[in-house]
Amino acid sequence: MTEHTFSILKPDATRRNLTGAVNAVIEAAGLRIVAQKRIHMTSAQAGKFYEVHSERPFFGELVEFMTSGPVVVQVLEGENAVARYREVMGATNPANADEGTIRKLFAESVGENTVHGSDSQENAALEIAQFFSGLEIVG
Ligand code: ATP
Ligand code: MG
Repeated sequence: MTEHTFSILKPDATRRNLTGAVNAVIEAAGLRIVAQKRIHMTSAQAGKFYEVHSERPFFGELVEFMTSGPVVVQVLEGENAVARYREVMGATNPANADEGTIRKLFAESVGENTVHGSDSQENAALEIAQFFSGLEIVG
């Protein structure tokens, strides 16, 4: 089934000029980038985005990291895009990520792990709506 998922290239990726390199892995995996923009998140935006983690000990560090530099927010389209992109990203901790995954290739640590991808279709819809209007998604 053709789906949409929400992706973020995190500040460690933009800092190291890896936008194109990460996008090449995404496209090689058969996912299509149907919306994309570079933004600098405010603390309010990052806090809202990661609200589910607000009680976790790393929440403050996570918001600080996500606002430390520009990010690239994206909508990806493809067959089973939510699950497919999670596979392409690899495990949260790059030390546990499979060969060839974005996090194995590029991530520096469990915190600075290069990409975000939605974990369910429901969250994908909510996350896309936080950053994109329907008119900005061109499939
Ligand atoms: P994401 O939601 O960013 O796609 P994920 O679903 O693989 O990643 P989550 O458990 O949702 O992982 O954690 C969200 C983010 O919080 C992680 O991507 C990472 O940046 C950060 N994070 C998770 N665990 C830790 C930790 N132990 N220490 C520091 N940061 C962490
Ligand atoms: Mg997550």
